[in-house]
Amino acid sequence: MKNILIYNKIEKEFAGFAINEIEGHDEFHQMIQFPAEIWQKMADQRLFGIGINKKFGGWNGDSQAIALAGHILTSHGGNMGVAMTWMMHEIISKWLISKYGSRKQQKELLPRLSRGEITISLAASEPNTGAHPKYMRTAAEITDAGYRINGEKTYLTNGPLADFFIIIAVTAEISDQKELSAFIAPKDAPGLSVTDAMNLSILKPSPHCGIILKDCIVGKDNLLGAFGDAHEKIVKPFREIEDTMMMGPISGGIYYQLLQLRRIITKQNLKLDADMILELGSLQCEADALHALAMVAAERIDHHRDNPPVGPLTLFFRKQVSDFQDRMINIIVKISGETDSRLMSMVKDIAGGIRIASNVSKLKVQRIGESFMSPVRST
Ligand SMILES: Cc1cc2nc3c(=O)[nH]c(=O)nc-3n(C[C@H](O)[C@H](O)[C@H](O)COP(=O)(O)OP(=O)(O)OC[C@H]3O[C@@H](n4cnc5c(N)ncnc54)[C@H](O)[C@@H]3O)c2cc1C
Repeated sequence: MKNILIYNKIEKEFAGFAINEIEGHDEFHQMIQFPAEIWQKMADQRLFGIGINKKFGGWNGDSQAIALAGHILTSHGGNMGVAMTWMMHEIISKWLISKYGSRKQQKELLPRLSRGEITISLAASEPNTGAHPKYMRTAAEITDAGYRINGEKTYLTNGPLADFFIIIAVTAEISDQKELSAFIAPKDAPGLSVTDAMNLSILKPSPHCGIILKDCIVGKDNLLGAFGDAHEKIVKPFREIEDTMMMGPISGGIYYQLLQLRRIITKQNLKLDADMILELGSLQCEADALHALAMVAAERIDHHRDNPPVGPLTLFFRKQVSDFQDRMINIIVKISGETDSRLMSMVKDIAGGIRIASNVSKLKVQRIGESFMSPVRST
């Protein structure tokens, strides 16, 4: 199917699903487990596998298709957590399993991922240290039959739902530099235990948990991608992909907020002064621009197989969303909208969404600043 046909199909099917199955379900904002019936309905309506090749049962869609679907899930459904869980499933399928999976791994996993029969969680971050290789303690040793992994991971999106984990572990340390590798482990792998679901204050009902690995055994075939290459090929690029693709649901959440604002103003029959009309017009323009930016960033991923130039776009997006939210909160206070739970849940989740890996983003901006001031700069 041509991309334009896919976008049209997404607009129709994802909007219908979001309106009928997500919008108005205020109870989702209290749940630490993903509602099983929502997952099943997504699977029944074939909303998974947008980026997976047709031969494995997917839609063969590009990154814009995924970003657009994420945008619609939140703009029409009003729940960022549902969109985040769906998005992680999609991006792990496209950028980790489709891209780095062996033929055997692809054949075994992609058809089931397309049908939503299974899902996979990326397990990179460790308690208190994030996913930086310098501080990573989870390690894998080579054994006769495969690998033995020891360590602990946390904050794993979709961990409580996951049938498999992609575990990032140190496999060598050469003069203070750690080399990482990625392993696909089923949730019932010997030595792997899944911790209780975490009660995060944001992004519900997207479920999170940790895993503990005590002499966890996986076979030789469970290596994902090249041995020792996971930092450069998987962890770093995936951070960029995740930041880029989440721009879709976040820009959708921004639209949802504006719609809720209009609903409250209309319901209260408020008379707006010229300044307020001007501010609302300005926020609507900005929402449209942020949506366009999300689509352009997704397109850049498709046009650059390795190292897509999305950093400036994702960093600018974060900053603009943060400024947008300050102005949005100002209006909410002015119209006494703080008691509207739907609006306030979205406000909280957008703040949470742009905070993920915010230290990493700050470091990137700092590096850009240093490079700008570097004497070797020629222009
Ligand atoms: C909602 C959410 C979902 C995530 N999903 C995944 C995932 O699927 N797989 C994965 O490997 N990593 C995941 N992470 C971890 C994330 O990718 C970063 O590694 C981590 O957030 C560290 O980045 P940072 O230093 O910029 O801190 P920030 O992201 O700015 O941290 C924000 C806050 O989140 C909490 N936090 C986040 N990570 C940790 C941690 N490792 N230990 C203790 N507290 C922490 C702390 O309260 C911290 O103040 C997730 C984090 C969050 C918040």
